[in-house]
Amino acid sequence: MLALALPELLEALQFAAVKHQYDRRGGYDRLPYINHLIKVANGLVNRCGITEDTLLLSAVLHDIVEDTDVTEKEIAERFGYSVADIVMELTDDMSLSYEVRKQQQLETAERLSPGARIIRLADKASNIEDIFSYPLDWPVDKKAAYLHNSVQIAAIIKGENLRLDRWFEKTAEWAAQQLEKQRQF
Ligand code: ZN
Repeated sequence: MLALALPELLEALQFAAVKHQYDRRGGYDRLPYINHLIKVANGLVNRCGITEDTLLLSAVLHDIVEDTDVTEKEIAERFGYSVADIVMELTDDMSLSYEVRKQQQLETAERLSPGARIIRLADKASNIEDIFSYPLDWPVDKKAAYLHNSVQIAAIIKGENLRLDRWFEKTAEWAAQQLEKQRQF
């Protein structure tokens, strides 16, 4: 039996789809942003067996404050304070450079709550899959740095859900192999 509040989840998906409607995934050929949010939420349910409302709503909304005009207050009012708290834990300061943001994610990983750890790890697994399977205009070194940073973060935040840990580990291993192949060209 799923603990899932389907009306709320659909509400969050609709909200995210509208707010991110002009966002595209960086470096990919106009890949819609919502694909990423659905992939993370779907991964939690169908790969990891996670059906907790707060986590699924947070998965759908995890990039919304970072990338759109939505505020913490608005999320709290629409979806509750526990969702807003997790989303804010996962929100980077976008005034900082890409490299500094990735470094901060590593430095602050230890302070993440269990819920935020789950979303962060699913986000990393999902991003690594995308980085190494879609055409992406990143140099191989940038892909390698993303993978390395994610593996370091994962070592700190894993342990909340075994299937999620395995999803990340398998993906990271596969990506390391892809990296070797890409380096040969
Ligand atoms: Zn994300």
